[in-house]
Amino acid sequence: MKLPLCPYCGARFLYPDVKRSMGAKTGTCPHCGKRFRISAGRGLAALLPAALLVLFGVDWFLLCIPDMNLLYLLAVTAAGVAAAYFLIPYTVRYRPL
Ligand SMILES: [Zn+2]
Repeated sequence: MKLPLCPYCGARFLYPDVKRSMGAKTGTCPHCGKRFRISAGRGLAALLPAALLVLFGVDWFLLCIPDMNLLYLLAVTAAGVAAAYFLIPYTVRYRPL
C-alpha cells in the first residue's frame, strides 16, 4: 500500500494532503494543474475486513487471558480502529477525469 500519485505527472502527495482530499470527489494536482478523480482504491475493500478480522482475533485472544479487564480490551480495540483509520489514505487512488 502506498499513497496515491498524480495520474498525469506522477507527483507525490503527502499524507495530510491525501487525508484532506478524501472528502472531495475531484482534486487538482499542484504540480501540473490537471484535475483528477479521487476514488477509494481496491485496498479499502481489503483493509476493512482485514482490520476487523485482526481486531476480532486479538480481542478473542485477550479474552482467554484470566483477569483481563474490559477497559484494556476496549483500549486495544480503539487502538486497532485508529490504526485502520490511519491506513485509509493509503488506499485512496487518483484517476484521470
Ligand atoms: Zn500532476
